Amino acid sequence: MLASLSYASDETEFYAPKPAGYKPGKTKYVIVFGTVMSGLGKGIFSSSLAKCLQDKGLTVAPIKLEGYLNIDSGTLNPYRHGEVFVLDDGMETDMDLGTYERLLDQNLSRLNFATSGQIFTRVLEKERKGSYLGRDVQMIPHVTGEVKSKLRELAVTSDADVVFVEIGGTVGDVENAYYIEAMRELAFEEGPNSCAFVALTYILNPPMLGEQKSKAAQLGIKSLLGLGIQPHIIACRGKEPVTRKVREKLALYSNVPMENVFSMHDIDSIYLIPEMLRGASLEERVIDILQLRDRIDPVNESLRRQEWNDFARRIRSVSRQVRIGIMGKYTSVRDSYASIIHALEHCGAAENCRVEIVWVDTTDITDANAGEHLAGLQGVIVPGGFGVRGTEGKIACIKYVRENRIPYLGICYGFQMAVVEFARNVCGLTGANSTEIDSDTPHPVVDILPEQKQIEGLGGNMRLGGRDVQIKPGTLAAELFNNAPEVRLRFRHRYEVDPQYIERLEAGGLIFSGKAPDYPIMQILELPRSVHPYFVGTQAHPEFQSRPLRPQPFFRGLVRAALERAAATRPEHIPAPAPGAGMTT
Ligand code: GLN
Repeated sequence: MLASLSYASDETEFYAPKPAGYKPGKTKYVIVFGTVMSGLGKGIFSSSLAKCLQDKGLTVAPIKLEGYLNIDSGTLNPYRHGEVFVLDDGMETDMDLGTYERLLDQNLSRLNFATSGQIFTRVLEKERKGSYLGRDVQMIPHVTGEVKSKLRELAVTSDADVVFVEIGGTVGDVENAYYIEAMRELAFEEGPNSCAFVALTYILNPPMLGEQKSKAAQLGIKSLLGLGIQPHIIACRGKEPVTRKVREKLALYSNVPMENVFSMHDIDSIYLIPEMLRGASLEERVIDILQLRDRIDPVNESLRRQEWNDFARRIRSVSRQVRIGIMGKYTSVRDSYASIIHALEHCGAAENCRVEIVWVDTTDITDANAGEHLAGLQGVIVPGGFGVRGTEGKIACIKYVRENRIPYLGICYGFQMAVVEFARNVCGLTGANSTEIDSDTPHPVVDILPEQKQIEGLGGNMRLGGRDVQIKPGTLAAELFNNAPEVRLRFRHRYEVDPQYIERLEAGGLIFSGKAPDYPIMQILELPRSVHPYFVGTQAHPEFQSRPLRPQPFFRGLVRAALERAAATRPEHIPAPAPGAGMTT
């Protein structure tokens, strides 16, 4: 694809790599930088703005540029970085990619995600091949050239009208500086009206002053100007709406017209942000800056907008509620489970109920006290996980919900733990376990996948990404997926149900209702309805596939079963309005 690259040589310093088929002017770029601090919600802002343009009939493609040297996010600790979001092609990415998939209802791929590790690897591989013969390989133009070519590859492959570029980190970080330089070069090469620069900033409001202060924001934007980037739009984050005075100051110090200085203050739900942007006509500004007016086709815009706003409204106004417990190890860090939280929210909107999430740390749970820990829950999720800690507590929870007919959804590790529990307590396989937890177990009902045995190192080599799953007719899974014979689910695991135990588990009454088409890898389990109202596990990560207007069926089934349990066990009442998934800084 990079056949037509022009390399900087002894004759020229210009280096504007363009992949084959690149049509200059076809794709425009919106580039979002963060100033003052990280965690402002660049991904949420960028995906909301992209959605507004998508609703006008434009094709959009997002990309996140991460500063860190890891090749992907797979080895990052969810405590530090939030969940690892897995794409259909198996790329392990930052959780922001989940935000893009959900807001744009679009499957992304490795083309939509870059890290410094990937960029430098490409440069060094080329150097070894001799691609830069005679030249010293430099940050400018070679490394920045690689960044530009990554964006242009995405432009060609997606045939997008607009590529949305989110620069990770904060202006001033050493590790992101070359990305910013690459964006300056890109705008220079692509020409006027090709790139819209957006600075997302933060307006301080120190309690001892009781007044919004713009200095930190001004300095952040000054840094950006010093790097040769003149923002077209400034989006101000803050708790309260940003005052006119502060916006005027920013406009004055940054050469940005007042109407392009926008207050993006906290609101109840991230799903309300597209409407907030439209309220300030921000998407119209972008269309003017990029001269896209002749490409828009707003025929379906009002319909899409209405569907979306109905959904956002349903999240907030609800008449009934259910309480779902999430049993985990990272329960103190909500970002570790971002996609599960969103999937439940999607179901809440679809079922017109408020799903209250109760976080349960399983470290101290035993068979004796599981009932106390799970009191008042109408549904339980055991999410994905790794390692030993908290697993016996999870198994005790699963025993309790199985015996007490509490709706259950086991996700990946939660699927494997359900198998261990069933093997021990129903099939009588004393000491059954996963070899991840106990390598000497007498009954390794969950064992490492054969192809994983040869693999050394931990980076990017699990069974990853989208796979087809065969669904057994006549099962609960078949019902949930509208009798589709095959569905596609996303995976991220090293262990599986050991095929030698399948018969014994089935003889005990467990149903494997989904399996890999060509291998005996079990992917979905369930108990018959006669035994339990909703006991489902999946080796996959269905949370990555839930979309606002299309909730994932396993989650929807859980919420429906939980609602039935709530209706059966106590009188309906009207709870206080849901706080929703609020924007936090
Ligand atoms: N630790 C388990 C495995 O590797 C489950 C992984 C997960 O929950 N993502 O198979």
